[in-house]
Amino acid sequence: MALRLDGKALSAQLEQRLHALIEAHHESVGRPPGLALLRVGDDPASGVYVSNKEKACARVGVVSTGVHLASTTPAADVLNALQRFNLDPLVDGILLQLPLPDGLDEGPLLAAIDPEKDADGLHTMNLGRLLKGEPGPRSCTPAGVMALLRSNGVDPAGKRAVVVGRSILVGQPMALMLQAANATVSVAHSRTSDLVALTREAEILVVAAGRPGMIGAEHVRPGAAVVDVGIHRKPEGGLCGDVRADEVDAVAAALTPVPGGVGPMTVTMLLVNTVLAWCRRHGIDHGLEDLIT
Ligand code: NAP
Repeated sequence: MALRLDGKALSAQLEQRLHALIEAHHESVGRPPGLALLRVGDDPASGVYVSNKEKACARVGVVSTGVHLASTTPAADVLNALQRFNLDPLVDGILLQLPLPDGLDEGPLLAAIDPEKDADGLHTMNLGRLLKGEPGPRSCTPAGVMALLRSNGVDPAGKRAVVVGRSILVGQPMALMLQAANATVSVAHSRTSDLVALTREAEILVVAAGRPGMIGAEHVRPGAAVVDVGIHRKPEGGLCGDVRADEVDAVAAALTPVPGGVGPMTVTMLLVNTVLAWCRRHGIDHGLEDLIT
């Protein structure tokens, strides 16, 4: 059986570190870190995600400010809400929950977030900083994957890595982070001609295709570390990923569970980005270097 890359356990450990850091500096700074969560419309899954993020903030001592706008809100009013957060000295991180309702273009709205307060690490400036190897908030899901690999002793340096998926949210920043950690990286997508041949080369295989159960034992090189980013609701209830875990478990050396793998790490990295922004603004020596990719 493959080693379980346990994101839930690592998240709990990291939350303790963040909590201790906030406790240690809260008084001298005069305030705790603040995260603003902006939700537009009534997508039910987004409601659950925002509520999970608010609970995580409460556990570590980050003050969350939730604003929920109606799905009919004009883009100019969403922009105003973001600009108010940009100017608010008590806000260190801003998150615009995606997806937005039809008719609202996420591009200009994400671009309006102050890059220093970009808790999701999706601002063009921050994707550019990642590309150039400059410091800045990192995209939460791939940064969470890097932390999960490192904490389980999977060092990408010198390894062959394959990322399945090339989205701006996951695949592209994932590939850049693995490359920055000295892996040799290939990115597969829906037009890749022989996916099995490519993924079988991978010593580290990250799957973010959004296709339930598409990766089976035949795709996996024996002894690989496999990270399943996909998350899907099964018709019969419960969750599954893009990887057929029952098969891959027997071939891989390490595998993330779904749920309890990448999902909790994504939320934790949102907190890390917020706390790091608070530390930078107040010149706090944070000791979180191991989480910065
Ligand atoms: P996305 O924007 O839909 O991108 C999917 C990518 O997979 C695309 O690049 C697509 O290729 C590629 N792809 C689709 N079918 C493929 C196939 N048969 N073979 C090879 N590549 C294929 O999705 P996303 O936002 O990156 O998310 C991916 C999955 O991760 C989803 O299940 C999502 O729910 C999940 N997710 C989980 C978390 C978490 O915290 N656990 C966070 C974010 C996302 P093309 O570019 O050619 O279309």
